[in-house]
Formats: sequence, structure tokens, C-alpha cells
Amino acid sequence: MTTRLLILPGDGIGPEVAAEAEKLLVALRDRHGLAVEWTRGLIGGAAVDATGSPLPPATVSAAASADAVLLAAVGGPKYDGLPRELRPERGLLGIRAALGLYANLRPAVLFPELAAASSLKPELVAGLDLLIVRELTGGIYFGLPRGVETRSGPHGPERVGFNTEVYAEHEIERIARSAFQAAQQRSRRLCSVDKENVLESSVLWREVVIRVGREFPDVALSHLYVDNAAMQLVRAPQQFDVIVTGNLFGDILSDVAAQLTGSIGMLPSASLNAHGQGLYEPIHGSAPDIAGTGVANPLAMMLSVAMMLRYSLNRGELAGRVEHAVQASLAAGLRTGDIAARGEKTVGTAEMGDAVVSRL
Ligand code: NAD
Repeated sequence: MTTRLLILPGDGIGPEVAAEAEKLLVALRDRHGLAVEWTRGLIGGAAVDATGSPLPPATVSAAASADAVLLAAVGGPKYDGLPRELRPERGLLGIRAALGLYANLRPAVLFPELAAASSLKPELVAGLDLLIVRELTGGIYFGLPRGVETRSGPHGPERVGFNTEVYAEHEIERIARSAFQAAQQRSRRLCSVDKENVLESSVLWREVVIRVGREFPDVALSHLYVDNAAMQLVRAPQQFDVIVTGNLFGDILSDVAAQLTGSIGMLPSASLNAHGQGLYEPIHGSAPDIAGTGVANPLAMMLSVAMMLRYSLNRGELAGRVEHAVQASLAAGLRTGDIAARGEKTVGTAEMGDAVVSRL
């Protein structure tokens, strides 16, 4: 059966890095027998320009009927003044909601060639390879009630802002299951991060994660409070394999983990729903400062294709090939500007993409 993809290039450097992902797909199709076809769609500022909406209905229906979606990046200064509902980022939040993408997988891998780019000492990050599984559709970002209202305070009426951390058992169960399954594909260690000493929602989180864990006796489960987890991530990050956590804690910890690898242009991500459909995207944005100059690093986008092969297409061996081709390109000394050491020779987006494809 032919796999059908939707590619959403978006804005800024998005179309430039998406073009390299397409080159990779052509090679996977023509040289490695991957039965795949794809169409392109509009999202973000590009969609606002063409249709007046950051997420046109045609994009939502194309995404719903695709097996997987590859998204590059959205946003840019041109759109900063638009009302909130027309902002490019709304397209991103909208497509995540429309597809019910509740599990966000963010690997942080340090390629040995780039150890010097990390903000930690090379010996602390050598061999770093962890995966953060973040719950994406629940928790305090979506919980009700929320708002700003006037209440009486010690010095008279004042405004109070509030949000609510809400997690239902079924939400915890499904994200825990995704995390245990991911751990089974790696070194079978899972650390659940919560704030069980303070938050009732975390008490339930921990209880449900332990319960789901009984279905996965081959995975060693541990627990950390989020403050300790943050400290451990910058103290001794190699101790982690897979981390599972809620939306807010995951948002923060995954950015910390990304910084440990030193390059935002290298990191892919996956967001999955209950039907195995996934949206795959680099963690970086549209980088308006370098858009149109042909210097963007396409590796995060190409590694997003590898994640898609692994998690939506069940082609782990092809994913490994892509990852090896990236590693081999780095080992051969190819560097885009963002990962080059001072004075090192750099290549452009297309040259880096070609290098990976030729090493596939
Ligand atoms: P950014 O990730 O776009 O850029 C941050 C810095 O990293 C910039 O200096 C940029 O040049 C560099 N950079 C990022 N990706 C790179 C790559 N592939 N190769 C080389 N260098 C790279 O973040 P920002 O500047 O905060 O945001 C710019 C725009 O992107 C904003 O409109 C923001 O809303 C949007 N954004 C979108 C996403 C997304 O689409 N998922 C994520 C973050 C930000």
C-alpha cells in the first residue's frame, strides 16, 4: 500500500528545508523501494497570504486523510501585527488539535562531531541520546476554568489570573502507553516526571503511570519531581533514556534538553494521535533572519523524515539509514553555519541535503 503524505512548507526557511526533505523522499522512493506519494499544502503565513486563514479547511482535510504530515515551520515578522486568530502559529495549534495529536516525542541527540556546540562540558554530554515524551493536548494549557477576574484582595478589589492543571485518567493512560512503547524500542528505561509532592493532578498522574507500567514489565520505571529532573538534565543528562511528562513540564524540559545538544537546527520532533497518524516537524521556527539566503540547516527537517519512517511507517531500518547518512555527512566535515565552529568552512542548505541523500 502506498503511504500518502502531506507536506506543509510554511514560511521563512520552511520551504527551503522542506525541499531537502522532498529530495530525501525521492531517493527513498526511487532507490529504496519506499511506496510513498505526497502533496503539498498551505499553512501559516503562506496560507494567510493565499486564503486569508492560517489553516484553510483544505489543509485540515488533506491532513486528516494523509498517513503522516511533514511540517517545516511557520511565522515571521510580516504577520506579527495580525489579530491572534490569524497568526501563523494558530495554524500550528489548529492542526495539532484537528488531528488529536496528544503525544509529542522530542529526541535530544548529541552528534559526537558537534559536542563543542553544547553549553555543557563535552564530557557531560558525550553520548547524549534521550527522548522526551510530552503530553500535548491536556494539562494547564487547556484546563478549565481559566481567565482573569476581579476578586477582593488585601487592599481592595484586584485582578486575579488563573489556569487549571487538569488531567483525566484516560489522558494519562494513553500518553503513558506511548512512552512505555517508545522505551521498549530504546533501552527500556522510562522516567516519569511530575510534582506529586504538591499537586493532586500529579498524584493521579503517578498512580496511573504505575498502573500502565504493569503492562510493560520489561521497562524499568522511575519517577522524579520536575525540579529535580531539571537539575539532573543539566547535571548528568546521560542518565536518562525516555522521559514522560505533562504538557507544561514537557514544554520546559524539552527546550532544556534541546539546548544540551547545542543546535536547534538539528532536532526533529513527532506528534502522534491514537490512530498512529503523526505530524513530523523540526523544533526550530521559520528563522526569518536567514530566510531566503540558502544557509538554513536542513538536518532537523531530514531527521523528521526519519522519525516519520520509524513511528508512522514502521520502517525503523530506513529511519536508521537516514540517521546514519546525517551522521556520515557530519563526520565528513560538512557544516551549515549554525553548527560550524569559528572559522570552519560552511555549506548551504542544498549542499547539506545533497550530502545526506548521496550517503543514504
Ligand atoms: P527560530 O527557531 O526561527 O530561530 C532562532 C534562531 O535559530 C535564529 O537565529 C535562527 O536563524 C536560528 N535557526 C533556527 N533554525 C535554524 C536552521 N534550521 N538552520 C540554521 N539556523 C537556524 O525561532 P524565533 O526566531 O524565536 O522565531 C522565528 C519565527 O518562527 C517566529 O515567527 C516564531 O513564532 C516562529 N516559530 C515557529 C515554530 C514552528 O513553526 N514550529 C517554532 C518556533 C518559532
